[in-house]
Amino acid sequence: MTSHKAVSSCILCDNNCGIEIHVENREFKSFKGYKAHPASEGYVCQKPGRLNYYQNHSQRLTSPLKRQSDGSFKEISWDQRRSYNANHIIRNPEWRKSDKNGALQIHPKDGEKYGLTDGAKAVCETPFGKADVTIEYVDSAFVGFVSLPHGYGMTYSEGGIGLEESGRNK
Ligand code: SF4
Repeated sequence: MTSHKAVSSCILCDNNCGIEIHVENREFKSFKGYKAHPASEGYVCQKPGRLNYYQNHSQRLTSPLKRQSDGSFKEISWDQRRSYNANHIIRNPEWRKSDKNGALQIHPKDGEKYGLTDGAKAVCETPFGKADVTIEYVDSAFVGFVSLPHGYGMTYSEGGIGLEESGRNK
């Protein structure tokens, strides 16, 4: 039997509270709020108590499913799923009903702190690349965090994966 403590985030709502979990093999034995999480600061509701049910249910999905043109679903590999998401759902602007330009979302307090006004152009740079972005003030954003669509800065290419362009997730 393997047993360890893991730090993660609860995925049962978009607060994504930090949680500390006692894990034995694949079983989540207990959990508590993770005090060092910058947003939740140790808070959790009772829902993470159900995480073990979702993690280990006998009928859980064990591979991605892709909808076929006749409405049925076909199993695909994790690599196929990643490529499909990255190339179609994220980079193809037609999939994005709002925010077609993939704005960098930031809380107004952070915008003011860093001199970034709503609608301004900026450069988002990581150790892996950089991309020109448009700033968007979002009151619901966590102070101290920014949000940018994954794969932003890469080019959508029909039927293939546009990895030639420089992007922050290259
Ligand atoms: S602990 Fe509760 S409030 Fe926090 S992310 Fe999970 S479901 Fe949401």
